[in-house]
Amino acid sequence: MRLLLVEDNETLAALLQKGLAAAGFSTDSVKTVAEALEGLAAKRFSAIILDLGLPDGDGYEVLHSLRSKGDSTPVLILTARGAVDDKVKGFQRGADDYLGKPFALEELVARLQALLRRPGVLLGAALKLGRVTFDTAAREITIDGKLELVPPREAAVLEVLLRRSGRVVPKQVIEDQLYGLSEEVSSNAVEVYVHRLRKQLSEADAGVEIHTIRGVGYLIREAA
Ligand code: CA
Repeated sequence: MRLLLVEDNETLAALLQKGLAAAGFSTDSVKTVAEALEGLAAKRFSAIILDLGLPDGDGYEVLHSLRSKGDSTPVLILTARGAVDDKVKGFQRGADDYLGKPFALEELVARLQALLRRPGVLLGAALKLGRVTFDTAAREITIDGKLELVPPREAAVLEVLLRRSGRVVPKQVIEDQLYGLSEEVSSNAVEVYVHRLRKQLSEADAGVEIHTIRGVGYLIREAA
């Protein structure tokens, strides 16, 4: 479980990092809004511990940036602003939990564990197969951790296949998925997008194979 700690007080950040490590969390620690946004653009975290008073701005900017992208990574606000109004504001802006300073490390750990137990988090929004990870919340596809730019229609095909990996997906189901993205779907659209997707995955050495089941549909599985 990797956490992002956004906290400008270095003494507190060091203490937290140590305490969280003892509880089994590895933590990346940053001190500013800018560093937090940079870290979040580069990596996925299981949860974020967010201070509000930061040298270059407000922690809410980080929360806003995440939520406006549809990223539902749990965020626990950790701040000296402990008034009820502040807490309400935090939740309204998409925080999952709120802990006022001063706090006990045990309580922070217990709250993080509770956040990470939530079904959405546990199951994750990520579909994985071979070297491919499809983050369905962020609409991001990575291969071996490296961002792969897949056009929206090919991505839609990949998503429906990954959701049923190892099983045959009827062509009609894939077609329906494509209809959501454009009005016109030509009769061979599925073949075209599957072909392009297959090519892109193979060139990126994604470690997955899309098999054609003649007259039925397609199936994705890990490359042998
Ligand atoms: Ca601060």
